[in-house]
Amino acid sequence: MSKLTPMMRQYLDLKEKYKDCILFFRLGDFYEMFFDDAILASKELEITLTGKNCGLEERAPMCGVPHHSAENYIARLIERGYKVAIGEQVEDPAVAKGIVKRDVVRVITPGTVMDSHMLDEKENNYIMSIFIDENGGGISFADVSTGELKTTEFVKKPFLNHLLDEIAKINPKEIIINTLEYDGTNIKSEIARVSTLYIDEFDNWAFEREYAIKKIKSHFNVLAVEGFGIDEHEYSISSVGALFEYLEKTQKSSLFHINNISYYSSDAFMVLDKSTRRNLELTETMRDKKRRGSLLWALDKTNTAMGGRTLKKWVEEPLKDVHEIQLRLDAVQELKDHLLTRDDLKDLLKNVYDLERLVVRISYGNANGRDLVALKSSLKALPQIKELLDDFHGAKLKNILKNIDLVEGVKDLIEQSIMDEPPVTIKEGGIIKKGYDSELDELREIVSNSKEWIANLENNEKNATGIKSLKIGFNKVFGYYLEVTKSNLNLVPEHYIRKQTLANAERYITPELKEAEAKILGAEDKIIELEYQIFIKVREEIKKFTKEIQGTATAIASLDALVSFAEVSDRYGYTKPQVNNELLIEIENGRHPVVERTMNLDMFIGNDTYLDGTENRFSIITGPNMAGKSTYMRQVALIVLMTQIGCFVPADQATIGIVDRIFTRVGASDDLAQGQSTFMVEMSELANILNNATNKSLVILDEIGRGTSTYDGLSIAWAVVEHISEKDILGARTLFATHYHELTELEGLLEGVKNYCISVKESNDDIIFLRKIIRGSADQSYGIQVAKLAGVREEVILRAKKILNQLEENDLNHKSIEKNVQEVQVVQEEESVKEEIAAVCEEQISLFNNNDQKIIEQLRKIDILDVTPMEAMNHLYKLVKIAQNRGA
Ligand code: ATP
Repeated sequence: MSKLTPMMRQYLDLKEKYKDCILFFRLGDFYEMFFDDAILASKELEITLTGKNCGLEERAPMCGVPHHSAENYIARLIERGYKVAIGEQVEDPAVAKGIVKRDVVRVITPGTVMDSHMLDEKENNYIMSIFIDENGGGISFADVSTGELKTTEFVKKPFLNHLLDEIAKINPKEIIINTLEYDGTNIKSEIARVSTLYIDEFDNWAFEREYAIKKIKSHFNVLAVEGFGIDEHEYSISSVGALFEYLEKTQKSSLFHINNISYYSSDAFMVLDKSTRRNLELTETMRDKKRRGSLLWALDKTNTAMGGRTLKKWVEEPLKDVHEIQLRLDAVQELKDHLLTRDDLKDLLKNVYDLERLVVRISYGNANGRDLVALKSSLKALPQIKELLDDFHGAKLKNILKNIDLVEGVKDLIEQSIMDEPPVTIKEGGIIKKGYDSELDELREIVSNSKEWIANLENNEKNATGIKSLKIGFNKVFGYYLEVTKSNLNLVPEHYIRKQTLANAERYITPELKEAEAKILGAEDKIIELEYQIFIKVREEIKKFTKEIQGTATAIASLDALVSFAEVSDRYGYTKPQVNNELLIEIENGRHPVVERTMNLDMFIGNDTYLDGTENRFSIITGPNMAGKSTYMRQVALIVLMTQIGCFVPADQATIGIVDRIFTRVGASDDLAQGQSTFMVEMSELANILNNATNKSLVILDEIGRGTSTYDGLSIAWAVVEHISEKDILGARTLFATHYHELTELEGLLEGVKNYCISVKESNDDIIFLRKIIRGSADQSYGIQVAKLAGVREEVILRAKKILNQLEENDLNHKSIEKNVQEVQVVQEEESVKEEIAAVCEEQISLFNNNDQKIIEQLRKIDILDVTPMEAMNHLYKLVKIAQNRGA
């Protein structure tokens, strides 16, 4: 170590403190990285790896990026989940004794990014802190680019699933968590499964209650935490405390803009687990993870970035409180009814920039002149927005009106002080308006007078010397000069002092010229410095209004989201749903909000829905492939969800009894990457539904049980219908699409179960999809016809038909066995069935009656590793029957 150069020693000392980061070490105009950081960064950023003499025998691996383009490189590293520590010179090299002091001024992590080009404007970027032990868990999350901080906790056992659902909903970019000291499930990997991969354990002491309270109090400068409504939420307190600790450690600057903690109870919102969010394609499509084609895409017509983020939050957090929902729906109604006002509002909103992020940049000290001008033009739109809102009567819009603070002082200040088109940088002048500061005006006057004097000088000297081509010019090295071409050198007066010789001209100066130049340059330097100082002052003054601007931003964001709902409702013919706390879901002529948009006008066939808590609790839906079962079921879930976010719905009429959770079990899932088989995923999702659904839930099941053998699948599906439809067990409102036609026999047997099918018309050998859902059951699957429609080769289709015919001939046999399975499950005790089963097994029974040895032989033939549980049950059942018959 002793041989290291001082610079390298400084580097290593700093790196020691930021081991988990890639350290960007400022050397001149570059950020350099060394050793392992350099090897890693050169690979990730595809930049050349070189070496630097560091005093040791071997050169230190090194790579670097220019400081002016560092942002792009940092963004790439952050995107890949690395943390970057920025090590800057922290003293003026001119006054430094020995090597210039350097320190880390900021740590950038995936969850704490601030630079606008690293952020998606329509999405929040959350850093989350989780405190968890065997009795509960608390989460808090902040978006440092907007100043939002929220927290909640889960203490009712089993709390883990609820906690995981909440994490999945928030979808943070980075998580810190306490070190788990108890022997629970592997919580970190569970969290990683539903959320980000960037989870780090953070110092346990930071989560300790006393420390956390101290931290919160000191951040908000308050004496108690009661004011935030978190005093009784210990898990929340711990997670918030650690979050502040982490943010201070990484941001290293004021977190002034985080000026509130908002505690919420997840009970207020409809619960949607991760797979349901994915299956319903709320914010991105299942297949290619695109926004286009998602519900959010269909509903988002917002005009501001903040409105876009709010609308996304609403889509992800449907409400459960009828009153709250009604407030939103009433606001949408008013905005929908007043087309002209809505159009005016839209135009005004287009002028509103991202106030939430602007104000944070101001409070962080990152905002430039253009940001302030953007703030000003946003504020300018507010009075007219308020005026338009004044005509509305609903409580929600009135409340928005009340919360828009015009902050006129800020607007006037920017108007008076900042140029209308300032440059990007704040250190090169050209920002402050004339008339704002007298000292600045005087300096500018000096510059302009001197420039005018110089311009006049050119003419005067031309006349005095008679050199027509004489010019005054300026360059950075020599300053102002008089230039005379070689042919006129004989006319140059004595007092000209030669400064520079060019190929065909000479350049001169005079004492007066230099005097004027000194005035200009001196004043220009002062102007730049003064403009910078004034700008900082203006910015600091605006910072005092952070809270007011944030309040306005929230109000504008809600308004924008409501206008967007009104816009889509009007444009696509949505209607206002009735909401209540009953169990009825009644939809007339409902449509799928996304699928209908992918079709030509009116091509989508609307369908009715009737689900209640009694006679019509459980719909079994049959119909050929491609008939529209999945679309129909998703459409019902989406109409319920749209109602609960306060949007109108694609239907002629709808009455929605509030739903506490929507569960879906649909198709294959991409969890295969997590090492689970398709069937395993299907069953664990089913387990989740059976464990957590209530009679207020809506359950969507698409072909449960198809991932295993027919009998297993059918048996599972059957048992699931029984379990969910039974009002004393779950009694959840359910739509269940299936190809097991046997299940339709349950109508009449189980209370609340009703059969529906999606109609098709047969025409010769083909089918025509009518897309209409009707009462009753389908009698065929039409799989081969659909395969033909899909373009499967003719010879395969013909062969499939032949095989189908053969199978149907053998069907008698199959049917009897299937029936056997069903009856075993449902009505074991019925005497007639016993006889029927006895008849099916007649042959074997007589065989076994004759010779016990043969029973043993029969048993020997069973390959125990190759039977499904259901087949095993059958074998066992038959043997029991035989034994009973013998005893009788
Ligand atoms: P499978 O059993 O093979 O999954 P499915 O019965 O679930 O099929 P869907 O996937 O819902 O069928 O629908 C197939 C296609 O039919 C959809 O992509 C859509 O284009 C069209 N479709 C579905 N419902 C309607 C409707 N109501 N009106 C018009 N077109 C529809």
